[in-house]
Amino acid sequence: MTIQFPFDNSYARLPDRFFTRQAPVPVDAPKLIALNRPLAEQLGLTLPEDERDLAELFAGNTVPEGAAPLAQVYAGHQFGGWSPQLGDGRAVMLGEVVAPDGRRFDIQLKGAGQTPYSRMGDGRAWLGPVLREYIISEAMAALNIPTTRALAAVETGEIVLREGRMPGAIFTRVASSHIRVGTFQFFAARQDTEALQALLDHTIARHYPEAEGPGGLLDAAIGAQAHLIAQWMGVGFIHGVMNTDNMTLSGETIDYGPCAFMDAYHPNMVFSSIDQFGRYAYANQPQIGAWNLAQLATALLPLMPDREAAIEDFTEAVNGFAARFDAEWHAVLRAKLGLSTEEDDDVALAFDLLDRMAQGGGDFTQTFRALASDDPTRASEAFAAPALLAPWLDAWQARLARDPQNAIERKAAMQAVNPALIPRNHRVEEAIQAAVTGDYAPFHRLTAALAHPFTESSDIGDLQHSPTEAQRVTQTFCGT
Ligand code: AMP
Ligand code: MG
Repeated sequence: MTIQFPFDNSYARLPDRFFTRQAPVPVDAPKLIALNRPLAEQLGLTLPEDERDLAELFAGNTVPEGAAPLAQVYAGHQFGGWSPQLGDGRAVMLGEVVAPDGRRFDIQLKGAGQTPYSRMGDGRAWLGPVLREYIISEAMAALNIPTTRALAAVETGEIVLREGRMPGAIFTRVASSHIRVGTFQFFAARQDTEALQALLDHTIARHYPEAEGPGGLLDAAIGAQAHLIAQWMGVGFIHGVMNTDNMTLSGETIDYGPCAFMDAYHPNMVFSSIDQFGRYAYANQPQIGAWNLAQLATALLPLMPDREAAIEDFTEAVNGFAARFDAEWHAVLRAKLGLSTEEDDDVALAFDLLDRMAQGGGDFTQTFRALASDDPTRASEAFAAPALLAPWLDAWQARLARDPQNAIERKAAMQAVNPALIPRNHRVEEAIQAAVTGDYAPFHRLTAALAHPFTESSDIGDLQHSPTEAQRVTQTFCGT
């Protein structure tokens, strides 16, 4: 059996207090559910042919040569409350590979058994969240949104106890790193300046080689989050659990627990069952991004020789997030509306559309996709109250008349940013429910379709539809 991963484990070379060396805990009877072959190829992995060997590999029963398995330690603010000690409680990082294109990626098994950071948890995952992360993270990648990726999913052949007896599963996550705001917070809280400096150097070398010092890293992280959150909002994505341990320094989306895409637009939309006060509601995401970045700034302060001056500089940098986010978000909105030039009232026009969607029950994805079609008046069909859209369409047409792009170019540009297909919650749930009974066809069909979200196709009409009242899924769960 050939397994060859181009490992170079730089995180494992950091000081011992960054992690605990920990092998995945073997499972009884692993079975392969899905393998992302294009991603495996991009990473330069040589994989076994036999499906049983693949299952053993992605279950952690076989650890590839050159791996340096470990569980990372971190801390974080969860729903605003400080948790001084978190860490990979159900994940083991096998190591980092350097892909043929020179890029570096972590390969992590999620659900790989208990670690010293498991607290009361069993270290395992059940099938639902594993499939959910597989579907949604790959959909995000196809939507051109920075994200961790899904390399594989396996069943473990074991039962995990959640609300009931659920089938166990393991997810293989690929990330350009797993360095979180909470990783910095962990060392800052312990006043471990030496570790903090090592983490800073590691993070800069890995993600922002042009950045200088803590201020440079902060600036880069602010830019990356401003971009990321604007991209999320452009597809109606609600992360749902933007705790500081779930915000990466790389600017990739991580942690697909209770996330969801909106059907009908509403700025206050929340899906997560544990987000009682709407802290992580759709329109609150930029504010929370800034809040998390303020925590990063605070964690970087111990590295600054002149603390007072640094507080002033970092405060200004974090306050600058709002304008940087707005620039990203407004660019997203202009692109969604097919505007190739900028006018003062463009943002107001876009916000007016969103307000009407909120009032008229407009489906976010369908409205924008219809605007990108040959007959934009069809956007009204995405509204529960269609009459609300008509005056807006007139204003938009008047604005388009002043835009230099011709109709053909505009349509192509709009169709490249307004997806026809998103992973709608009811379809994700349906795929999970079928998989629990052993039927993976809906899961495979959904992931295949979501690989081409900007392409219209008559065979996926049912996946594009917004849910009927009976189909609607209103709550999502961390489900770990
Ligand atoms: P999350 O909500 O997924 O960001 O996880 C928060 C923390 O809980 C992390 O430290 C996880 O490692 C830990 N955790 C979540 N589920 C489990 C589990 N089943 N077993 C052990 N630790 C877990
Ligand atoms: Mg997490």
